[in-house]
Amino acid sequence: MLHDLELIQVGKTYADGTKAVSDFNLKVGQGEFVAFLGPSGCGKSTTLRMIAGFEDITEGEILIKGQNVSHTPPEKRPTSMIFQNYALFPHMTVRQNIGFGLDVKGLPKAERDRKVERILDMFGLTDFADRKADRLSGGQRQRIALARGLVVEPDILLLDEPLGALDANLRRIIQNELKLLQRELGITFVFVTHAQSEALGLSDRVVVMSNGLVEQISAPKDLYLRPQTPFVADFIGNNTVIEGRARAAGLIDTAYGPIAGVGGEGASVAVIPAEAFRLAPSGAPDEIRLPGTVTFRQLVGAAGHFRVRLSDGREVKVETHSETPEARSTRPGDTITLGVDPRSVTLIAA
Ligand code: ADP
Repeated sequence: MLHDLELIQVGKTYADGTKAVSDFNLKVGQGEFVAFLGPSGCGKSTTLRMIAGFEDITEGEILIKGQNVSHTPPEKRPTSMIFQNYALFPHMTVRQNIGFGLDVKGLPKAERDRKVERILDMFGLTDFADRKADRLSGGQRQRIALARGLVVEPDILLLDEPLGALDANLRRIIQNELKLLQRELGITFVFVTHAQSEALGLSDRVVVMSNGLVEQISAPKDLYLRPQTPFVADFIGNNTVIEGRARAAGLIDTAYGPIAGVGGEGASVAVIPAEAFRLAPSGAPDEIRLPGTVTFRQLVGAAGHFRVRLSDGREVKVETHSETPEARSTRPGDTITLGVDPRSVTLIAA
């Protein structure tokens, strides 16, 4: 199958010797929405800039639709990039800003105008088309940046923290718009963010990075329920991570007794999502049972947030529905036994 984007062992060492990215492998299908997620400095933007061609790669290859573009200049690649600060020309009008990329490509005027008008209409920007870009709100500037990226009809749209400058409300609105737009256009999106909720909420697959390395590439749900490395288990969601010793495939020994879970030979760490704990055992014979004392309880709408101190003093977070009998009756100070279905436990290597 031909992929829209393929990174093969891509690496980047900056001139000063900083190794920003190593051994990055990724295949992106046409129309896929992929997010690069990780803490600041982990190499997300460097990778995105290498895909766009703004940064040379020092190892590996980048293919777009099967073509090796590793050393192709940015303007010759079928990509558009949207920057966090939008990089609009403040003294140009909205219409001029959006048309700029087409002018660079030397499109005939009639065709250029037709494309600009169509995209102005699509983004609801027609009424502002003759206003200067510096006279617009953050949300409007965001839309112009998107329109400017899309008007050139790229195969791949690259977005570098495009919502970072917006307040929380506007961010949510634009997130929805972005997702709808991406579905409608069927264009491949590669999106950089350090915000977990954004990556998990918007994308088909998430690439989690730390220290220049890819930790895991998974659909959001799998990232949440089946973390594959200690870093991901700690970074995503609300997991309890229990270190132990490998006993057999699917079983480790821990300070709390044996813990069974989903995982291969040699795994020695159990990862339990906060949502996997029950406040009372179900009675299933293979259930994991952890005695403890409730230290915190908060019911907010449909959600029940609890904390439970285990035998060795460790506190675990428990997320349940607020409407269950256990959630309603369990109070701080109660001695309880937490129940966990081994199928919701992931066993990983240390
Ligand atoms: P992120 O986007 O995940 O925050 P970056 O890709 O911007 O991370 O940076 C990755 C690493 O490369 C960091 O250690 C950063 O300091 C370094 N870096 C980024 N740009 C340069 C540069 N032009 N020269 C040297 N080091 C750089």
